[in-house]
Amino acid sequence: MSDAYWCELAWLGCERAEPGVVVEVEGARFAAVTAGVAAPPAGATRLAGLTLPGFANAHSHAFQRALRGRTHGGEGSFWTWREGMYALAARLDPELYRSLARATFAEMALAGITAVGEFHYLHHDAGGARYADANTMGEALITAAAEAGIRITLLDACYLQGGIGEQLNVVQRRFSDGDAGSWAERVEALAAAHPADDPVARVGAAIHSVRAVDPGAAARVARWAAERSCPLHAHVSEQPAENRACQAVYERSPTALLAEAGALEAAFTAVHATHVDERDIALLAAGSARCCLCPTTERDLADGIGPTRALVDAGVGLALGTDSHALIDMLEEARALELDERLASGVRGGHGAAELLRAATEEGHASIGWPEAGRIAPDACADLTTVAIDGVRLAGTTPEVALESVVFAGAACDVTQVLSGGHWIVRDGRHVEIDAAAELDRAIAALAA
Ligand SMILES: [Zn+2]
Repeated sequence: MSDAYWCELAWLGCERAEPGVVVEVEGARFAAVTAGVAAPPAGATRLAGLTLPGFANAHSHAFQRALRGRTHGGEGSFWTWREGMYALAARLDPELYRSLARATFAEMALAGITAVGEFHYLHHDAGGARYADANTMGEALITAAAEAGIRITLLDACYLQGGIGEQLNVVQRRFSDGDAGSWAERVEALAAAHPADDPVARVGAAIHSVRAVDPGAAARVARWAAERSCPLHAHVSEQPAENRACQAVYERSPTALLAEAGALEAAFTAVHATHVDERDIALLAAGSARCCLCPTTERDLADGIGPTRALVDAGVGLALGTDSHALIDMLEEARALELDERLASGVRGGHGAAELLRAATEEGHASIGWPEAGRIAPDACADLTTVAIDGVRLAGTTPEVALESVVFAGAACDVTQVLSGGHWIVRDGRHVEIDAAAELDRAIAALAA
């Protein structure tokens, strides 16, 4: 069965939006894309505004959506924020997790996100014991994404120690499989249920951080990912304290440690990379790695500003994530790459609008193992995110400046229509199945009860 859409403006990967683009969809893929069509052909659905490929949110911890507004005020740091996160993590069970994640993924859909990389480490029950089905929590996330209509890569994280050489605390026990072999055995079962060519849910691996995984275990996880050609993610150099601890014990940076553990032999993404140096950047580039920046979270936690221009100049692809969900707005994440760098460097114009959109779409999808998604082109996944340009925020936008208007001034609430794998998930600014606000309210209230 085929459907046709006529986009008033569409971004096809160039530096400018194209007016009058007909997109034909066959099943879950684009069949044909034709630019320069002045008016909607008979039977085509008209999409007013600027239509983009669906966004990829390459780094998410869905449960942290429940912390929004509760951890942002006052003083404190990443480390005090982490205490609030642990208190929340201790209260989740599979049903609460599924309902919170379903509402959070619906919020993502409303923001134009059609695929998420869920960095998952809440594996076991509150006492640290395996559930009867050891992957109950991961499956709850996969179900939640399916219900919200977005694709998911479950990046199953190995997490074995409380800090370098430290015991797990009482909450962290539910993150740990005990050793990397047990982690691999559990994840193998999950990967068997969701193979690498699954159209909606795939499995990748994650090393939580060099704090939580020792070099030997990191090597085991890296090997698992490399053997399966699946994505491998790790939190890297988010905080100077992580660099100092790693240097003190291992006499090398987190990036160098992970490189020696074989992480760069897999399809590796360094999440944050806020405090990487020139040698780290050279290693990441040599390993064809990507970095996933999460600027709204990094801002919120006072992490710092990553060296995005230096990474791009070295050939490291950039993806974007909403991480702690301080906000869920990929346009805000995208423009932050450029605007934060302007503040840090005193120089404008390092990243253009098209480059920022590539981070939010094609690079993000590739980072989480969907190389066939993130562009409006024949054979790519049929994901479309349409941003209205006639609202008060973007009124006055012309085709010549549509990319700049949307990237530098648009917001999640300007997203009106979202097609995911050939299916509508958002129409006229509303999720087709889920009242996301009401469900978020209920899920967060249930966790506080
Ligand atoms: Zn994270």
